[in-house]
Amino acid sequence: MNRHRTSFLMQRDGHVQDAADNARNELARQLPSGFMMEVVTATCPGCGQELTRGFGDKLFYGWGRWSDCQCVENAKSRAATEFSNAHRQRFVDAIWADTNVPKHFRASSFGTFERTDAINAGLAYCEEYARAFDPESTATGILLVGRSGTGKTSLAVATARAIAEQHLVQPLFYSSVTLVDDFLRGGNGRIFNYDAIDRTVAAELLILDDLGQECVTERSGEVLFRVIEYRYREERPTIFTSNYGVQQLRDHLGTSITSRIVERAAPVLVDGEDYRRQLAERRLGERRQPTRSPAR
Ligand SMILES: [Zn+2]
Repeated sequence: MNRHRTSFLMQRDGHVQDAADNARNELARQLPSGFMMEVVTATCPGCGQELTRGFGDKLFYGWGRWSDCQCVENAKSRAATEFSNAHRQRFVDAIWADTNVPKHFRASSFGTFERTDAINAGLAYCEEYARAFDPESTATGILLVGRSGTGKTSLAVATARAIAEQHLVQPLFYSSVTLVDDFLRGGNGRIFNYDAIDRTVAAELLILDDLGQECVTERSGEVLFRVIEYRYREERPTIFTSNYGVQQLRDHLGTSITSRIVERAAPVLVDGEDYRRQLAERRLGERRQPTRSPAR
């Protein structure tokens, strides 16, 4: 669990416990008081629930303390919502500041996404993935495949943003080129930067952008393999983007690494019309510009 979610949950729990104590104290003022050596019952004036105080299974609540009723539960869930409304965004912001997402993509979100035919199917898939994401158990990722300019990176970032907002998960962004660079920096071609490795393999959600654009040498292949293999074994989710289809990835990166990727990350085609071109054309109005096939 990342430190932001941990401290959100701890602070929220504290707030909820305070609210529960206040509700119990308030209740106790309205009910018979005293040090009881026998089981006593009363009806809660708030919710009408039968309450117990004293021995037996209510001993847990302590001497002279009434059992919890619906009023206490209501106070707890109200406090949790209040805390969330007041403070959750602060934790989301802190998480987002730690993602390493390049400035150009940092504002991408499902809300701001310009919807085009090309992106719609992929977008729906990613929205559902984000909604269903479970920080404790999601091991599968997504492989967003499509030509350059189709909006894959924006979509990957928007997905990570939704997961951060909805589940307080900490994503980490790396382009495969920077990943390889960072790992090998200063190491004479040997894997050197162990901090970067630790961060990448431990990330709750990794975005590995532009897979296949790194220059594949024996060393860069080893970096990618280590990261992907480790995350595969630890069942940690990764969102990949690539201009290559699955077969091309196999040719480029090799069979074993590609198999690891597609076993855990469903390939989603983000293609058809070029995203940037489609937006530009839409803005030009109805008169379509003559288009050529995009260079490959
Ligand atoms: Zn009550």
